[in-house]
Amino acid sequence: MVSSMPISGLKWVNRVIKQIRALALAVFLLLVVLSPAQLQAQSELVIIESSASAQFPTSIGFSLAAESDDDIIDIRLHYTVEREAFAEVTSEVYIEFDPGTSVDVSWSLDLRRVGGLPLGTVVDYWWTVADAGGNQVATAPAQIRLDDNRYDWRSITEGDVIIYWYEGDESFAQELMTTAQAALERLAEDTGAHLKEAVGLYIYASIQDLQGSMIFPQEWTGGVAFTRYGTIAIGVAPSNLEWGKRAVIHELTHLVTHQMTFNPYGGLPTWLNEGLSMHAEGELEVIYQVYLIQAIAQGSLISVRSLASPFSAFPEQSYLSYAQSYSIVEFLIDEYGQESMLELLNTFQQGSSYDGALLKVYGFDMDGLNARWRDSLATAAPAEPIEWQMSPALIGLLAAMATLLALGLAILAEDWAWRRGR
Ligand SMILES: [Zn+2]
Repeated sequence: MVSSMPISGLKWVNRVIKQIRALALAVFLLLVVLSPAQLQAQSELVIIESSASAQFPTSIGFSLAAESDDDIIDIRLHYTVEREAFAEVTSEVYIEFDPGTSVDVSWSLDLRRVGGLPLGTVVDYWWTVADAGGNQVATAPAQIRLDDNRYDWRSITEGDVIIYWYEGDESFAQELMTTAQAALERLAEDTGAHLKEAVGLYIYASIQDLQGSMIFPQEWTGGVAFTRYGTIAIGVAPSNLEWGKRAVIHELTHLVTHQMTFNPYGGLPTWLNEGLSMHAEGELEVIYQVYLIQAIAQGSLISVRSLASPFSAFPEQSYLSYAQSYSIVEFLIDEYGQESMLELLNTFQQGSSYDGALLKVYGFDMDGLNARWRDSLATAAPAEPIEWQMSPALIGLLAAMATLLALGLAILAEDWAWRRGR
């Protein structure tokens, strides 16, 4: 038809150019419309639902529902446990499921297999999903908090301390808070140590309740500090407040000590860690005094070097270890002051050996400390060692009486061994 129209050569050229332009535009538009990105959008992969729920203390359940035009062939759960660490660790779980266009999967994190996680721990998680059409989707990170929903928790906050409790009135929690704040103040005065991050204290109404919250409860567990999580869990009945105060101070001090010294290279000698907690509690309880006096009299003190390792599980040795740790820390604070103790903690924070830190700050190692500390005991009570030495039979008798007294106190106290193992 075109050829039948009489047109000039110039007009024909213009027309052809216009037609080429139109064709180019059409091709361009077609390419845009059919580009791979646009093609994929037509085959959609969507997340229908993602959720998690905690069954404290045993497991966390995660579930996901997704749909796509193509078979969903790959689902992975990624999670990170929030805790103090030098390198964040993300776990990746390959979910086993039958591929399909609509999938509904769930997976349970068995907390027993990760050694248990303390109350209040936050777990960040997200999913990645892929289908056979090459689509991939990642969900936005979400959080699940490990709460013990068996109890109706209330909380009060002061400074960096949050106390959670569910039995007893507000004054009960307030008294524990006042105790905690006073202990922190005294600790800062005596040692320069202070909290660097907020901590949570969970007050269970009894040791039985507390044990019900633990995956591996041990008979003696009355309180525990989860130092890397900044969390303490203690069983304190409102009727047992005095004991509870000591327990709160002791475990809270472990959190302070940990926050002051945490480093990727090494830990603290046990005598220093436990000694600071015992010091913070205040005056040494009678039962510990008995063991200490007895060991001084019998010449059966444990060396500072031995006390750098975890303490014996045998009650008598355990009591003596705590009593000596208290005494050694008292000696360092009384003799060399707050600044030196703070310097010692800072030196450990930089990752020092036990002897190296002592040498740097005090100019003597653990053997030197052992000798100086023993000398201080002798001068503090000059009459005692001589008196004891005069009659070995009397020493034996008194030692036996002391042991009986200690055991009697222990049985009466019932919660005698709550410090053991920490
Ligand atoms: Zn302790």
